[in-house]
Amino acid sequence: MLTIGCHLSSSKGFVNMEQTAMSIGANTFQFFTRNPRGSRAKDIDGDDVRRFHELAADDGISVVLAHAPYTLNPCSADEKTREFAKLTMADDLKRMEYIPGNLYNFHPGSHVGQGSDTGISMTAGLLNELLTPNQTTTVLLETMAGKGSEIGRSFEELAAIINKVELKDKLGVCLDTCHVYDAGYDIVNDLDGVLSEFDDIIGLERLRAIHLNDSKNPFASHKDRHEKIGEGSIGVEAFGRIINHPLLRGLPFFLETPNELCGYAAEIKLLKEMYIL
Ligand code: FE
Ligand code: FE
Ligand code: ZN
Repeated sequence: MLTIGCHLSSSKGFVNMEQTAMSIGANTFQFFTRNPRGSRAKDIDGDDVRRFHELAADDGISVVLAHAPYTLNPCSADEKTREFAKLTMADDLKRMEYIPGNLYNFHPGSHVGQGSDTGISMTAGLLNELLTPNQTTTVLLETMAGKGSEIGRSFEELAAIINKVELKDKLGVCLDTCHVYDAGYDIVNDLDGVLSEFDDIIGLERLRAIHLNDSKNPFASHKDRHEKIGEGSIGVEAFGRIINHPLLRGLPFFLETPNELCGYAAEIKLLKEMYIL
């Protein structure tokens, strides 16, 4: 079965996201844990979460993905920004335990001129402070396009972060198709080669989720501008190969394309049609 969903607004709570996902043919969804710019999160509504668990069980939603605010930068040069990243992620991880056993994705950060080695150490340091043996959430590092001073632009940088973290069993990777293509991994012409490189450097057992986005820019442009599926430089055939690849088929796929709900519904329908049962 294809596990497919898209990014949804979390402003009306979990039940609303579940029902919205169902209405567009999805069986999973992604959401921001709080305003993407990173302000205070709303209190968790216990009734909403309880009802969500019932609905998700009935409708066969087995996994959801929370996305950290993208202003969160664990390797900023500014101590206040790093402290904000720590407080935010700590609060997010606490809240994730209301929906145990799910995925929490974040951008590894931007080293802002301090160098990628420093960035890698700072981000790994944050994870070492926050991850606990009892947490049920798997924290995912997202593959980045390499715009500006982003770390996580290569499989080597992600592996370097993971290698510095003690509780490695709490960590995984979310591969974003737009980001890796922009970063110079040719998933259009050599998907097998890219996955084998991922396996050699990180290990495919760490790959826990895929962001499905086409790219507005050409290969290796380090830009990070998402495009609708089939309307960018990656192209629709490549997405057919990605969702059907034997090494990827079992993973949850999340659209973060520039769409309203009806556009997402159409993309989900298209991907389902391309999925070989
Ligand atoms: Fe992201
Ligand atoms: Fe993404
Ligand atoms: Zn992106």
